[in-house]
Amino acid sequence: MQLVDIGANLGHESFRHDFDAVLQRAREHGVGRMIVTGASREGSEHALALAHAHPGVLWATAGVHPHHAVDYDDATDAQLRELAQDPAVRAVGETGLDYHRNYSPRETQLRAFERQLAIAAELGKPLFLHQRDAHGDFVALLRRWRDRVPAAVVHCFTDSREALADYLALDCHIGITGWICDERRGTHLRELVRGIPANRLMIETDAPYLLPRTVRPQPSHRRNEPMYLRHICMEIARDRGEAAETTAAHSTATAEAFFGLPPA
Ligand SMILES: [Zn+2]
Repeated sequence: MQLVDIGANLGHESFRHDFDAVLQRAREHGVGRMIVTGASREGSEHALALAHAHPGVLWATAGVHPHHAVDYDDATDAQLRELAQDPAVRAVGETGLDYHRNYSPRETQLRAFERQLAIAAELGKPLFLHQRDAHGDFVALLRRWRDRVPAAVVHCFTDSREALADYLALDCHIGITGWICDERRGTHLRELVRGIPANRLMIETDAPYLLPRTVRPQPSHRRNEPMYLRHICMEIARDRGEAAETTAAHSTATAEAFFGLPPA
């Protein structure tokens, strides 16, 4: 089983003390390639540095998460534009809208999102998108830009059947995390993943967040890491009624095509 973790926040400080061991464990669990999420100006720089240090294993995205939209100024825009031109940066984002927490005002989020849509359009890069409790505004803006960007993945999809239909109608890819293993809030996803075409489905851990609740034994520190992608893949395969090898092969081929990765 050869898996690609399309969303790993490996620049997170919790990985600093044992980074190489994390990559080693991932490899031992079939996760040989990862896309490091850039979610802020400094975070995107860090993600790219990690990708440069681990060629053929790590690639990066460059973007500003809606939580940090208040920090998005002209200097940030210029820097993202520069980072996004590096060959190791394979998508613009994480960007989007998050009205669940509203750490940044909605107007500010919308403006930062649209400026990043413009970068992706100008550079012809795919988008790595985040949406929470903001589907209406999110899909309206995405619809206006969709024809100008080559591809877009709605990462960590947790929304409704209707939202999923909207994204698939816009020819978006869908990223599924261990949220699906959460019996308190993820059970609806177990049914919805059956309706995602194999060539639109990608899988991710969102490490160090979202440790799958069905992983046994549960690590005492609660930190999620890319090696658990294998567990997520097996759960999704069961929900789709197919062999884990099938889910693995399809999601990996889809990720290779989406991010332009060389075959492993
Ligand atoms: Zn996110």
